[in-house]
Amino acid sequence: MMRQYELVERVKRYNPSADEALLNRAYVYAMMAHGNQKRASGDLFFGHPLEVAAILTELKLDDATIAAAVLHDTVEDTEATLDEINKTFGPQIGALVDGLTKIKRLDLVSKRAAQGENFRKLLLAIADDVRVLLVKLADRLHNMRTLQFMTPEKRKRIAEETLEIYAPLAGRMGIQEMREELEDLSFQNLDPEAYEAINRHLHELTLKSEKLVEEIEQDLTAKLKAQGIEASVSGRQKRPYSIWRKMERKSVSFEQLSDIFGFRIIVDTVDECYRTLGVVHTSWPMVPGRYKDYISTPKQNDYRSIHTTVIGPGSQRVELQIRTLEMDEVAEYGIAAHALYKEGINGNSRLANESRAYQWLRRTIDLLAEGDNPEEFLEHTKLELFHDQVFCFTPKGRLIALPRGATPIDFAYAVHTDVGNTAVGCKINGRMSPLLTELQNGDEVEIIRAEGQTPPAAWESLVVTGKARASIRRATRAAVRRQYTGLGHQILERAFERANRPFSDEKLKGALPRLARASMEDVLAAVGRGEMFSGDVVRAVYPDYKDERRAGADGQSAKPNGAAKDGSGDHASGGIPIRGLNPDMPIRFSPEGGAVPGDRIVGILTPGEGVTIYPIQSPSLAAYDNEPDRWIDVRWDLETHDPQRFPARIKLQSINEPGSLAQIAQVIADHDGNIDNVAMKRRTQDFTDVTIDLTVWDLKHLNAIIAELRAKRVVSRVDRVTG
Ligand code: MN
Repeated sequence: MMRQYELVERVKRYNPSADEALLNRAYVYAMMAHGNQKRASGDLFFGHPLEVAAILTELKLDDATIAAAVLHDTVEDTEATLDEINKTFGPQIGALVDGLTKIKRLDLVSKRAAQGENFRKLLLAIADDVRVLLVKLADRLHNMRTLQFMTPEKRKRIAEETLEIYAPLAGRMGIQEMREELEDLSFQNLDPEAYEAINRHLHELTLKSEKLVEEIEQDLTAKLKAQGIEASVSGRQKRPYSIWRKMERKSVSFEQLSDIFGFRIIVDTVDECYRTLGVVHTSWPMVPGRYKDYISTPKQNDYRSIHTTVIGPGSQRVELQIRTLEMDEVAEYGIAAHALYKEGINGNSRLANESRAYQWLRRTIDLLAEGDNPEEFLEHTKLELFHDQVFCFTPKGRLIALPRGATPIDFAYAVHTDVGNTAVGCKINGRMSPLLTELQNGDEVEIIRAEGQTPPAAWESLVVTGKARASIRRATRAAVRRQYTGLGHQILERAFERANRPFSDEKLKGALPRLARASMEDVLAAVGRGEMFSGDVVRAVYPDYKDERRAGADGQSAKPNGAAKDGSGDHASGGIPIRGLNPDMPIRFSPEGGAVPGDRIVGILTPGEGVTIYPIQSPSLAAYDNEPDRWIDVRWDLETHDPQRFPARIKLQSINEPGSLAQIAQVIADHDGNIDNVAMKRRTQDFTDVTIDLTVWDLKHLNAIIAELRAKRVVSRVDRVTG
């Protein structure tokens, strides 16, 4: 195990002004915290964080990162608390350890390594600081190096996850060496035999052609320079995992693989690509059939490059890729980089943002490693990557990406429309939670469903995803239709009962032609909506029936038809400008308070009565929480109507003195409010409760009146009552 002074020495080697005291404190603290904990290998656990720190010293990272690496498992695995870390090491290191603890908890949730890209974004979204990601990568690297002590199942899972998530992340962050080691270690664990075979071959080859790579690199650079081409030439012997992938992809044996040595030549322009090709082909004999020009004919995925293979020094086949920097970025980072280059033209900002996010990460890491004053630099560079998104898991480990602010309702609809439509509750991280909770990164969300449910229309304005909104609208529309048919059925039953005639579906079916409707459901819905009189339906079924009470004495008739239509033909809604309902549907405001434009409103359907409009904050609505079928989505429909007044109720406490009520009335009158009713109740010696029903133009108007009343000396408090 690394000694305390060794750790300090390692850091001092690249950073002579390192904070020795800090490193020593972290060392001792973590050592005490982990105590006698052992790893699967039987070694002391404390060795692990030290190795992680050592890996990071190779990247020449700052003191805070090294200290955080030493401390990275303390909060999750020992008695240590974040509070204590904050107190002992300051908020900066505290924040780093906190980030690492959060990511570590994710490991427990991520049961499936699928959806790697989303998981990487989740890591980026959680890590506020690039150093958190670096420690996490080093942590994973050390765990991979010591994987042999785990059970076979665990090895497989961790290796797959590494290949899927962490190796590409290291690559995206520009730490290619770490990416390759992670890939090779994963490969070694997933297919030990193949790994050994390839490794053996590679080893033999290395012995034969030790200096080859260097030779070719220098040779090529010099030859290109002589032609006036500034090129960056990088060559290397390939790694076991990338050889394996190629063998799999092309189904060839190791001996058939020509490109164990690969060189990449990056130049400035397309023209230079072809001139470079000329230089290469005149320097070494080319292997026939291996030349491919993906610049003139790009691959489907927009990959562009020239490929050729030549017989280089020592008769070793050497593969070369010649391309510009732009082509290289597209090849390395895919479509996102491509979008970035095209951004000026078609502005695909989301992909460009992703690409820029990774580019920015790479630059940050470069700056970190240069290490002039990383603390000061990092202080002002919070990672705000993918902060407009939030990533949550299903109980089975599927990762769902949602816009920030999303609720479990959005989550449910993202999983499946049926899940959303039947959602009645949810558990977040195992705890019952309201469906309107704002989701956080890494939350595991379990939706509780009840078949036959309809989403409350009020959800529509509370969700943030378009999919949820559209689905809720569709489901409520269907539900509203069901409500109308149900309501129509009740109305007809009563109408037939009143007429003393038997009512049956069969009989109604026979009368469909006379009613000029296509289906029973149409008739029921039309009656429910008030588009068709129940009396007309009775007469259609029983043509001989005469309704003696038709002239208007029918106080008992079902209101949707009766109250509104019989005799007068006026709408029961009294012209209440509400959208979302058929104009013939009887509408009223909650008698206990009303609603005014500007209020967010919802309708509650009462079969046989119609729809009552409530402001969304109305306490009465709680009574309908378990009856989502009765909630109807309504909106104000003001453009189409002349200005009109709306009912509202306010409650005041006024001081008992002569003239106080007159003053109150005066304020309302001065503000163009109409008082409909006043009720007073003496509360104490000094105060009276006054309830005033008034009509106003809209919410702004009402609020102005309330504000003015509050300013009166004789009024001690004013509240709006919303039923
Ligand atoms: Mn660890």
